[in-house]
Amino acid sequence: MKKAKNIMSTANLTRMVMALAVLLSLVAIFLVVTKRTPAQLRAANECKSIVMVASGDTLSELLLAQGLSHSDVNNIAQVLKKEAEISTLRADRDRLEFVRDADDAPVSKIVVVPSPWRQVELTCNDSGDWDCKTVDIERDTRAIYRSGEILDGDSFYLAGQRAGIPAGILIEVYDLLAFEMDFERDVRAGQKFSVLYEENFSEGEKIDNGNVLAVSFQALRGNVQMYRYRKSDGTIGYYDAEGNGAIKSLKRTPINNAKITSNFSRNRKHPILGYTRAHKGVDFRASTGTPIPAAGAGRVVARSYNRGHGNFVKIRHNGSYETLYAHMSKFAKGVNVGTTVRQGQTIGYVGSTGYSTGPHLHYEIIKDGVHVNPMTVKLPAISNLNKEDKKKFKEYRKVLEEGIEQLEKNPSMYIQL
Ligand SMILES: [Zn+2]
Repeated sequence: MKKAKNIMSTANLTRMVMALAVLLSLVAIFLVVTKRTPAQLRAANECKSIVMVASGDTLSELLLAQGLSHSDVNNIAQVLKKEAEISTLRADRDRLEFVRDADDAPVSKIVVVPSPWRQVELTCNDSGDWDCKTVDIERDTRAIYRSGEILDGDSFYLAGQRAGIPAGILIEVYDLLAFEMDFERDVRAGQKFSVLYEENFSEGEKIDNGNVLAVSFQALRGNVQMYRYRKSDGTIGYYDAEGNGAIKSLKRTPINNAKITSNFSRNRKHPILGYTRAHKGVDFRASTGTPIPAAGAGRVVARSYNRGHGNFVKIRHNGSYETLYAHMSKFAKGVNVGTTVRQGQTIGYVGSTGYSTGPHLHYEIIKDGVHVNPMTVKLPAISNLNKEDKKKFKEYRKVLEEGIEQLEKNPSMYIQL
């Protein structure tokens, strides 16, 4: 991970370029992964029991169950809180390891594992106090490249799975592409896509996925490309090939992968009212109860009911934009007029209240008081690079593209970060 950080954050471009070049030359070496068994390194007599924290478990109960005294329990709780900022255990997430020198010996060491990448070791010293040490687990991060093609009748999700992209990464890619693409109308058979993303390994075993580093999708409107990049001030964002912010202030499609059932039109025959009138938004089919995420950050300016929209929420965003979400079955808890929401925060749930023929989200974007087509309106980017960062970004992108080119030719390889 340290190396990866250097590559992504260093202000020294030459170093970054060289580092990546060296890493690329190492690609072939890492094709074969040897498995090490950490257990072999441990003392032969040492005895370890592992406890997964379950719902309702408390630290003191778990410690007492291991034969520790009440004063040990207090001592350990204090040390954990003070030195590791751990005051409560999380069910199904935290793990405790109790180490004894022999089967019937008292616990001499306790390891609290709050994440795959961090563990807190408590050791009983000679005076009976517990010493605390936090250990960061060495992480071996690899950049993996996967590419695929949309087949007839395919969804991007299916094609992505077929290409071997993990589900969690696919969801992130979806979220990114949703700023630029309309998955319902922009996805056709024959389109190619690729993703460069991180996988984290420990001792040769994959533990979890890391970040999405680069995405490319041959959309109808042209090739959509996004690159993860750390600016010189340390902030991370996604940028297009030219270094323009790829994350838009608003999403065109708040609910990913929802089918569009009715488009924006200045002239449409209303399915219930019968007569022709404008359809001021886009309808997305989704089942009742599907969470509706805010298309962008902003402040709730309406949370109300009317005969047409049913339950609806309206958000005022920075600049001149407002968005409206109609036909909700219910509002999300804590969302009221005046509430500040972040992009992606659930504001309500899909329903069929108001003039509606079935469960769907009716979504409107209003710019300077005028309804605009969410699918085609030009949306502002959240963050752009200054001149210097842009220059660095373009050089970084060039190096990254060279890496991708190598991986394209050898899909079973990866870049060691
Ligand atoms: Zn509608």
